[in-house]
Amino acid sequence: MTNATIMILPGDGVGPEVTAQALNVLRAVEERFGRTFTIRSRLVGLDAIEAEGTAISDDTFEECAQSDAILFGAVGSLPAGERRSGGPRPEQALFRLRKEFGFFANLRPIRPSESMYGASSLKPEHLKGTDMVFVRELSAGLYYGHMESIPGKPSEIRHTGRDTEAVDTLLYTEAEIERVVRAAFEIAAGRRGKVTSVDKANVLSSSVLWRRVVDRVAREHPAVAYEHMLVDTCAMRLVRTPADFDVVVTENLFGDILTDEASMLTGSIGMLPSASLGVRRTQGGMFGLYEPVHGSAPDIAGRNEANPIGAILSAALLLRHSLGLGKEAGAVEEAVEEVVRAGYRTVDVHESGATVVGTQEMGRRVVDAL
Ligand code: ATP
Ligand code: MG
Repeated sequence: MTNATIMILPGDGVGPEVTAQALNVLRAVEERFGRTFTIRSRLVGLDAIEAEGTAISDDTFEECAQSDAILFGAVGSLPAGERRSGGPRPEQALFRLRKEFGFFANLRPIRPSESMYGASSLKPEHLKGTDMVFVRELSAGLYYGHMESIPGKPSEIRHTGRDTEAVDTLLYTEAEIERVVRAAFEIAAGRRGKVTSVDKANVLSSSVLWRRVVDRVAREHPAVAYEHMLVDTCAMRLVRTPADFDVVVTENLFGDILTDEASMLTGSIGMLPSASLGVRRTQGGMFGLYEPVHGSAPDIAGRNEANPIGAILSAALLLRHSLGLGKEAGAVEEAVEEVVRAGYRTVDVHESGATVVGTQEMGRRVVDAL
């Protein structure tokens, strides 16, 4: 797409350090591919609370709404001593963005680099060829189901009426299932063309509905192969035959658990990107928020030690899913792979024989490779 506007929200802790490197990579993409992006940056989290009295101001929020995609760093939590009940909290920035933009699909690609198989808990022969994308439903399911219909809903534990019982409701509508499943099939069509839909249809009626919707959406994509898999089977196959998966789509809670399991195939949280897709269409795809999987890591902030690869690969996802720039995204991913293959590592993924570099040098090397 032309004239894309990208909003950068660096946030707290290592957020500014890693998003600075992702921004350099986006600038390098402009240069190499002859693109121009309008890039803005605003405060969120602790600094925004200090400067503007709120974790994300209305103006910042409005500018996000005008952009094609958001590149997010991380927001921290207040030090225990500074927490006041009712006062603004940094996490509210992300909550507000999630809520108001209605992000319904969370994407997490898992592709361990061959040169880093040593960092994984699996053996190289099991990992070979592993390259999958998780699509987790993010807006419904057990996390939100049916709360208001419970009479006199207590604020913390939802009771059945007896206070020796608690209840959660796993509610899905067809429309909620359909939009996330459709996103998964579209992503698979641009990859190896296979969808694994994960459910518990032998037990849960929401899963029976889920299967029915998947079967229907699949008919719109005859070129994409698909299968249904029970969540317990999927948990086993992820560590036995991870290379068999291409795109995995599943409901909220199963996705929460399975993405954490799958992330361990790569061995490091600092390497992993994520995307949250919203309902609004952009010229090149869908509006989205892109962020590394890791948090603000206050223990290493300000030391030029944080691994910027999760943030850089998040920028690649942004190019692909919100801007429709698949070739550019692939070039960024290939540049990261080249630097890792050449043996450069930040300290979190350091192995013997590798060359340890800081946040900035890692970013510079990716830009050079590009
Ligand atoms: P938050 O409260 O923002 O979630 P956290 O410390 O609870 O912060 P993470 O930021 O995810 O959670 O950090 C977990 C651990 O992983 C920390 O020890 C941190 O130093 C390390 N870590 C996280 N991100 C990176 C990174 N990009 N590079 C290197 N180490 C990282
Ligand atoms: Mg954390």
